[in-house]
Amino acid sequence: MRAKVNQNISLGDYQDVWVLAEQREGEIASVTIELIGEGRKLADHLGRDLVVVLNGYQMEREAERLLHYGADRVIYAESPLLKHFSTDGYVKVFADLIRERKPEIVLVGATSLGRDIGPRLAARLGTGLTADCTKLEIDEEDSKLLMTRPAFGGNLMATIVCPKNRPQMSTVRPGVMEKAVYQEEISGEMERIAPELEEKDIRTHLEMIIPDEKKKINLTDAKIVVSGGRGLKTADGFALVRELADTVGGVVGSSRACVEAGWIDASHQVGQTGTTVRPDLYIACGISGAIQHLAGMSESKYIVAINKDPKAPIFEECDYGIVGDLRKVLPAMIEEIKSKKTFELR
Ligand code: FAD
Repeated sequence: MRAKVNQNISLGDYQDVWVLAEQREGEIASVTIELIGEGRKLADHLGRDLVVVLNGYQMEREAERLLHYGADRVIYAESPLLKHFSTDGYVKVFADLIRERKPEIVLVGATSLGRDIGPRLAARLGTGLTADCTKLEIDEEDSKLLMTRPAFGGNLMATIVCPKNRPQMSTVRPGVMEKAVYQEEISGEMERIAPELEEKDIRTHLEMIIPDEKKKINLTDAKIVVSGGRGLKTADGFALVRELADTVGGVVGSSRACVEAGWIDASHQVGQTGTTVRPDLYIACGISGAIQHLAGMSESKYIVAINKDPKAPIFEECDYGIVGDLRKVLPAMIEEIKSKKTFELR
């Protein structure tokens, strides 16, 4: 079904940059803090306000905390019907607010929740949406939002504009944008609203929440990631990677080759179709450095690569490279680090 395009709008009526906050069980998702960081830059460039919209229930303190990250205003829509996520409820509240207040730009996290509501919102508002963006900029000539995302399997980057409709909407990949920094002193404004929302607006009924029993790994926020690639040869090869990760207080990552081989769960995959990471230290063990892998880790502060092939492309990207067999290099590193009392990144 084609969305109805909003043809009779005056672009000048639309102002401000909005971030649609994401929360689960009352906890703000880290992608929201990343979007505030990016939204702040766009708003400053345009000379507009940065507004964060939060749907929830009994979340005043979290709503107020968002101001400390640099929002000019937080609109907190409170209702018991917004305590848990529902597609109908969240889309209705966000769409009503966007129609009424007319933001120029709307940013949503490209998470499972954001990917659910983003396209529905765009269709209801009769505007476009660029999904899974990795870069946002303002066009110096006409102040339009330039939304960049990988296309054709990551072989080229496409920059997309939304010239005729408003708001300009984008879902943004988690882990790509830099997080806003929490600051104690604030000058922002908090607006609490009671949205027009009734039970009949929500077609789904929440029976129960079953927590995922799988141990969650948090690659996005990890300060150190130790990743394994096909050079590990077997699933058992990850034992060494895990040991190094435990020794340095890091999290285990992986290339897609190992996920496809069934050596490790997909939640560990780093890269274009996995998670984007920007740790202080990324250690790549037996990973060649394919462009799709680099897309997910090249923003790491320091990259260490261990590979037996001196011509492996990962050596073009790393800060420190060790040419050698990982089965010899990793045990030596583990032993050396363990012999120190503490491991600290400087
Ligand atoms: P290989 O490329 O096979 O490299 C293995 C490396 O190990 C080699 O450099 C070799 O020299 C080294 N090695 C072998 N033995 C040893 C040893 N004993 N000691 C030390 N080094 C050794 N890939 C991702 O990782 N993430 C993604 O999100 C992703 N998305 C993709 C999306 C698309 C649309 C496509 C087409 C591909 C994607 N890929 C992704 C796959 C990507 O192109 C590569 O195939 C993959 O990253 C290769 O994984 P690898 O480096 O582990 O394996």
